[in-house]
Amino acid sequence: MKPSQPSAPGVPRLLAESVRLAWRAGRREMAVMVAMQIASTVLVVAAVLIARDLVSSLLAAVPANGAVGELLPDVAALAGVTAALGAASAIQVNRQRVLAELCLRRGEDRVLAVTAAVPLAAFDDPDFHDEVERSLQAVRQLPVVVIALSGLLRALAAAVGAAIGLVAINLLLAPVVLLVVVPAWLAARRRGRVFYRFARELTPADRERHYLLNALSTREAAQEVRAYGLDGFFAARRARLWDERIAALSSIAGRQLRFTVLAELVGAAIVSGALLALVALALSHDISLAGAGVAAATIILLGQRLAVAASSAGGLSESALYVRDYLEFAGRPRELPAEPATISAEAQPLIRARAENVSFAYSGAVEPALREVSLEVAPGEVVALVGENGSGKTTLAKLLAGLYEPGAGRVTWNGVSPTDELRGSFAVVFQDYMRWALPARDNIGVGRHDRLPDDAGVVRAARAAGAHTDTEALPDGYATMLGPAFAGGVDLSVGQWQRIALARAFFRDAPFVILDEPTAALDARAEHDLFVRIRKLLEGRSVLLISHRFSSVREADRIYVMERGEIVESGTHDELVALGGRYGEMFELQAARYR
Ligand code: ADP
Repeated sequence: MKPSQPSAPGVPRLLAESVRLAWRAGRREMAVMVAMQIASTVLVVAAVLIARDLVSSLLAAVPANGAVGELLPDVAALAGVTAALGAASAIQVNRQRVLAELCLRRGEDRVLAVTAAVPLAAFDDPDFHDEVERSLQAVRQLPVVVIALSGLLRALAAAVGAAIGLVAINLLLAPVVLLVVVPAWLAARRRGRVFYRFARELTPADRERHYLLNALSTREAAQEVRAYGLDGFFAARRARLWDERIAALSSIAGRQLRFTVLAELVGAAIVSGALLALVALALSHDISLAGAGVAAATIILLGQRLAVAASSAGGLSESALYVRDYLEFAGRPRELPAEPATISAEAQPLIRARAENVSFAYSGAVEPALREVSLEVAPGEVVALVGENGSGKTTLAKLLAGLYEPGAGRVTWNGVSPTDELRGSFAVVFQDYMRWALPARDNIGVGRHDRLPDDAGVVRAARAAGAHTDTEALPDGYATMLGPAFAGGVDLSVGQWQRIALARAFFRDAPFVILDEPTAALDARAEHDLFVRIRKLLEGRSVLLISHRFSSVREADRIYVMERGEIVESGTHDELVALGGRYGEMFELQAARYR
């Protein structure tokens, strides 16, 4: 969880990890790239040696008035080698594209495996969102790593080939020129660290900027942005975040420029020194003219390749720092099963859920949302939670369903702590249920996706939720895409969506059903009809019903009244009315409205 310091060592290890990651993502691509690399190195050596032969033949042919034909074999060989080098490079670039995508895919897969396996509470923690954002950013860097790695290898192959060629011409200059790598690499590495730190520090601001980008570009926000005339307001905040980012970037980039230029100058000085030494050797006849000419060209080539290699290496060390974020995140231990065990509906045991002195606070919240709450829902019971907004009803329901862990006290299912086997035994209609961009039948069917082909079951669930007639009347009936996100999508009214969500929970056919304001968008009569049906449909199971409408909880076997995270009253409707406390007061208030 703890973010490690960007200055922590380990870049070589991270690079090794990156190579391993790329290897796992695409073995064939990697193998081809390495083979092409080796071929390139050999070809560069050959090119240098052929060039030397060519130049010395030329130097011999000129005074002897030789014919072009004498030089033809060398020219042809050089052309062949050059063509082969080009082909090797092209194959490499081609494989590199595919490998980059493979890495991206593997990286995304692993990040999503973690986001699927963390407890729900992680999503209430801004640090977690920063981590997710950073690891996704790192994943987007993976192709950059691959490309930089491949560029580095290409440059190194050429440089090593050139160096071997130089040594073959019998010179001690090669090791000197290798020094070019030092300043360039140092500058690039420094640049990498600074930019990485910059990106890391700006993650929260970047997330806010993305949030505003979404607010100004997605359908969910569009209507409210227009109705409240918010575009200018959000745009100004977004502009400020961009300004800050660009200003910080420019200032960093400006400072880094000095080091880069300095490194270039030092590199150029080293190459010039090597060339001067070469001239001296030629003048003192310690080296043939042909050798000197080709060596000069090779030294320049070597210097260039090495500078490219060093800069790629520096870029890589920056990317490697991102890779650390990715590895840290992808390496988090799984805290939830990959998918809760789904037992066939018939085989699911009934569930008695209990909360014993449960207290709970959301991450970062000052006040606890629940304080020492105890309640039980037994098989065959309909238990209701009532209370004002924010009194903790939803939170209690989520704890009973095992979505959150209590801070104190405990939740038990059939007498023991929640087990992975029983996680699939709950069906919840959340207050903020999802409106999946899926065909209507799938929108219901994902209630238990392993039984998706059960069309008759989907229709039964829809009928029970009162969604059948409307769904059948859609342009393509149950096959109609819901929500306007994709072509042919049809949007529903809030009440219709709510019935689809309810049908989804019914299709789940779970022994424990939690309904959090499942009928908030329905009128009183529709709600009453639905409750009569629910009661019959869910007979024998455990039902926890949350509602702010007192008329709908009246029939419950037991009613718990919540206030500021505590249960303040409980009993049947008649008992609570007779008690004349909070419930009696609120019931009277609502009843009076309908009279
Ligand atoms: P109810 O369902 O009775 O309206 P909730 O259980 O949703 O109440 O909320 C109880 C308290 O917990 C409220 O004060 C609410 O602001 C807070 N709360 C709810 N969800 C979260 C969350 N994800 N993160 C932080 N606080 C939350």
